[in-house]
Amino acid sequence: MEHAATAVSFKYYFVEFTYLLAGILFIMGLKGLSHPDTARRGMHYAEIGMLMAIIGTLLHRDIVSYEWIIAGLILGGAIGGAISYWVPMTALPQRTALSHAFGAFAAALVGISEYYREGAALGEIKVTALAFEVLLGSLTTTGSLIAFAKLQGLVPGAPMTFKGQNFFNMALLAATVGCFIYLLVTPAAAVAFYIMLGLAFLFGVMLVMPIGAADMPVVMSLLNSYAGLAAAATGFAISNNVLIIAGTLDGFSGFILSVLMCKAMNRSITNVLFGAFGSATDGGGTQAGGEMREVNLEDVATQMAYARQVVFVPGYGMATAQAQHVVRELADVLDERGVTVKYAIHPVAGRMPGHMNVLLAEANVPYSSLYELEQINPDFPNTDVAVVIGANDVVNPDARDNPKSPIAGMPILEVDHAKAVIVLKRGKGKGFSGLENPLFFKENCGMLYGDAKDSLTRLVHAVQQA
Ligand code: NAP
Repeated sequence: MEHAATAVSFKYYFVEFTYLLAGILFIMGLKGLSHPDTARRGMHYAEIGMLMAIIGTLLHRDIVSYEWIIAGLILGGAIGGAISYWVPMTALPQRTALSHAFGAFAAALVGISEYYREGAALGEIKVTALAFEVLLGSLTTTGSLIAFAKLQGLVPGAPMTFKGQNFFNMALLAATVGCFIYLLVTPAAAVAFYIMLGLAFLFGVMLVMPIGAADMPVVMSLLNSYAGLAAAATGFAISNNVLIIAGTLDGFSGFILSVLMCKAMNRSITNVLFGAFGSATDGGGTQAGGEMREVNLEDVATQMAYARQVVFVPGYGMATAQAQHVVRELADVLDERGVTVKYAIHPVAGRMPGHMNVLLAEANVPYSSLYELEQINPDFPNTDVAVVIGANDVVNPDARDNPKSPIAGMPILEVDHAKAVIVLKRGKGKGFSGLENPLFFKENCGMLYGDAKDSLTRLVHAVQQA
């Protein structure tokens, strides 16, 4: 008897120890992810942390049978493996949205099943945590699914709005929170619980529908933070320490990331959530007149080969073209000729934070060659050629010069201050904000049309011949 009790308490301490270790590894992981040099290591710490959390949970005393868990592990592992293998880097934002939807749905299901099994017997404190978890989990589930659909192009990316929408959404939120508060004082009120559940699902849809696809990364990071808080609430409800730690880390890091992205676009969170940015009715962008000047590839190659300094400005188009390796090749060829090569990185270039850093790191571009906005902008007047590779919004001078522009105030890479600007893009397509870019009409700007990877590959040969 005593022997069995010792074994149980050893198991309990072992599980708690693995959770503590997991929590420490998650924190080390986040710390590592804050710098490109240590990001890979940080990711490994977080992976080991997750393994620890899984091992600890598999030994948990509440587990009575392993069949369903093993089936879930095999199925989930297979789906996760296939997704990470098949989904291209450019589709990462929608993949992340889908993961958030599943994670949040799992948190909501735990809450629903606990309430269904135990009901008011859980007591007021646990019902409060459960209701909070179900509320956030449900709205995050549908919100993330809509974000996924918008990013994947399954529903129109433009904001879908109607008159009085903000008022309707506020009323919906008030009704949902009303049910939540009613449950706190009357934990046995199952009807209030299920109405709250339905309203929260609907609120997730209504919250994300009016937001344009261009703002989806911010929304997702915010939903990520809700999913984290839902997981933390689950932790309180089922007394699980690793869920409390991981959920809180997730919740707050997601929120900080949303704030940082808004700052990089000079927008407020409320403007992102309620501003319907990027709608077809958005005015204020400069209607640039004149012609875009098309340039010849050989001329561009000569210009670059005899330059003192060339700055590459990557954007979303470099990611879709998967041109990062050939950019590196071109940089090497220029470097051999004594040209100084730098890369200018805008914090929201691409479709997710750090998008360009990840791609360039994959192509082994040395971190010391990457320059942030504040560092590189004063250097553009000394730059002979700024090569814009599939970037558009992040180099749009309207943000600086036109106070009426929807992106007014967004910090930009001031490539127009360089002696010459060459823009690599396929045609006259607009950026993600849908705005015209007056840069392309400036005198010092030349357009080199074509797929970025293709143009860069031909440039490598042409520079070698120059
Ligand atoms: P962008 O404004 O979306 O412009 C991308 C450009 O790439 C397009 O104009 C397109 O023109 C060109 N392109 C596409 N495929 C190409 C290919 N295969 N080869 C060559 N060019 C190609 O990109 P960005 O300047 O990187 O700006 C990012 C946008 O996302 C900003 O509006 C930003 O606010 C938003 N955003 C980003 C984040 C984030 O975390 N990174 C978060 C929130 C919002 P063509 O069609 O003519 O080729």
